[in-house]
Amino acid sequence: MRGLVYNAPGQVSVETVPDPSILEPTDAIVRVTKAGICGSDMHIYNHGDAFGFSPGCRLGHEFVGVVEAVGSEVRRVKVGDKVVSPFWFSCGRCAECHLGHYTSCTSGGCYGFQAFWSAGGDVQGGQSEMVRVPMADGSLDLVPEPLAADEHDTTTLPVADVLGTAYHAVAGAGIRPGNTVMVVGDGAVGLLACHVAGLFGAANVVLAGHHDDRMGVGERLGATHTVNTTGEDGAERAGALLAELTDGQGPEAVVDAVSSADSIARRSATCAPTER
Ligand SMILES: [Zn+2]
Ligand SMILES: [Zn+2]
Repeated sequence: MRGLVYNAPGQVSVETVPDPSILEPTDAIVRVTKAGICGSDMHIYNHGDAFGFSPGCRLGHEFVGVVEAVGSEVRRVKVGDKVVSPFWFSCGRCAECHLGHYTSCTSGGCYGFQAFWSAGGDVQGGQSEMVRVPMADGSLDLVPEPLAADEHDTTTLPVADVLGTAYHAVAGAGIRPGNTVMVVGDGAVGLLACHVAGLFGAANVVLAGHHDDRMGVGERLGATHTVNTTGEDGAERAGALLAELTDGQGPEAVVDAVSSADSIARRSATCAPTER
């Protein structure tokens, strides 16, 4: 099969790689119909050597696909099912999984991150034609029938990572009905954070980013205000808008969907209460 291989910083290529196979009776093999590229993949692309990624490992942890084969102990999914996996595979049975803390699963790990997590044995990335999924009953979710056709993959794919990440951020920020929320960053997580903030009842959702076309997407997903913070006075303009919306108090919550040193510094300067 073909798969995306990391060779060195700045060097990845699609190459012929070994087909995955069932190694444990709880495994499934999934034929990938659509895969995403994450910001985390860019960290590996740029600095994979520093993180311990060796040449030949395969990237990708966001995918949707069809079950191609299952081990003898797999019960919840069968060959032919359309499935999506979160980026983190998990057993679904340990104490942490029972608490819903799947990313703390005592035997879990992340696809395409074997340098970090060796759990699950040989688990390669999802930017390949097929993936070995450990603990398939815990890891895979069935895609509901109305969305099971391949033409809906772009709708389903965000569930693998970016929607869950956005939801986690918004839930963790404790957003309540009527709040003003600042979302920093107009990438996929930031855009979906606007959507989720609306579900939590935020009255004002201010999206700050650098791309006018993505601002339009943010508005369609629920941002009530957008501000393109490109330029020296970008943070100042965002701060002025927030002050106006909150009578100088600043937003109740901020979702930082960039998390660079710059975004954190600007966030602090922009969202602090202002004197009026
Ligand atoms: Zn990701
Ligand atoms: Zn578990």
